[in-house]
Amino acid sequence: MSTTTANRAPAAAAPFDVAARRAEFPALHQQVHGKPLVYLDSAATTQKPRAVIDAISRFYERDNANVHRGVHALSERATKAFEGARATVARFLNADPREVVFVRGATEAINLVAQSFGRPRLQAGDEVVVTTLEHHSNIVPWQLLAAATGARVVPAPIDDAGDLELAALERLLGPKVKLLAVTQVSNALGTVTPLEAVIALARARGIPVLVDGAQGAPHLGVDVKALGADFYAFSGHKLYGPTGIGVLWARREHLEAMPPWQGGGDMIRSVSFEKTTFNEVPYKFEAGTPDIAGAVGLAAALDYVAAIGLPAIAAHEAGLLREAEAALLAIPGVRLVGTPRQRAGVLSFLVGDIHPHDLATIVDRQGVAIRAGHHCAQPIMQRFKLAATARASFALYSTPADVEALVRALHAAIKLFS
Ligand code: PLP
Repeated sequence: MSTTTANRAPAAAAPFDVAARRAEFPALHQQVHGKPLVYLDSAATTQKPRAVIDAISRFYERDNANVHRGVHALSERATKAFEGARATVARFLNADPREVVFVRGATEAINLVAQSFGRPRLQAGDEVVVTTLEHHSNIVPWQLLAAATGARVVPAPIDDAGDLELAALERLLGPKVKLLAVTQVSNALGTVTPLEAVIALARARGIPVLVDGAQGAPHLGVDVKALGADFYAFSGHKLYGPTGIGVLWARREHLEAMPPWQGGGDMIRSVSFEKTTFNEVPYKFEAGTPDIAGAVGLAAALDYVAAIGLPAIAAHEAGLLREAEAALLAIPGVRLVGTPRQRAGVLSFLVGDIHPHDLATIVDRQGVAIRAGHHCAQPIMQRFKLAATARASFALYSTPADVEALVRALHAAIKLFS
């Protein structure tokens, strides 16, 4: 686990009662294919605690109305809940609520930055540096931007362990670079990137930095003031919240300077055919009716995490990852893909020459949900000359029993193929 100051989960942690926490996640307590569910796909999306499900139900049962525009009681309640959610997100990030833009998820947040921040600034010959560790969501928006402006997307390399090559990155940060986009944690390898060092390199050259926190926020959290980046993106559904809601955090001065990227209701101050003026930030970037219940659910998720404490969650997950790594390596024929200096949330692996899709299908029959494929990170697969890996990913509700079930299921798969 990371110990940087930008990442919020330090080493010290309160005691953690995983059985009590698991009891709070209804979806974990079911059978699939006649076997107890072992959910090891939390990097794709986490299960939701009762507190989140109830907060969403309560909103629709009592407070449902549109926000910002009504003077009636329900609209005022909905607005209060929505803006309260923004304040909760701001606390989670250690940010000003005016710097918190609600979006659909990390993907939309990055596209917003590419189109609104990047497009007016980039010209032919400019460069956007990304890393080879990125999810497609932090590559393709920059490629679209590059296609529209004549700029280039330049990948920073990783080594055989799956760690960023910092010296190579530094060499790439030349005068043509207008933005650096880097993930906090790789969803395919679990690599925790050395954000402090990376951001320091960029800042020394005046290069704005976007951090993709989709996998980092759930395991490490973030303090955007300490981070020193310009943009931070994350998705609610990977952090025990609902799908359809996420956050773009951006420095206020950027948001003030950036043009709106979608037009519609709520993002305007006044509209006429002669002249339209825009709302203040962050509303300038929230055109149309937002996902109000989603924001309420996300706030409930962040409150839930805060009540347990990210340090306790991080310590629990780190212990489990170490156990899982050792248990997998003890299985003959298992190879880990990526052995980074710091890992969070994810183990990617191969078992002999069994295709990862076959493996995932077979272990699913044992009730074990893992993922197989390129994990929306094909450049990483290309780096390791692979088409796919199997991936087990962990969350606060994961247990040693889950790891044991995975190991049993892998042994069964090996037997089947031998
Ligand atoms: N970035 C990373 C590292 C991810 O793992 C993901 C999703 O898996 C995303 C971005 C995109 O998140 P979303 O699909 O929620 O927008």
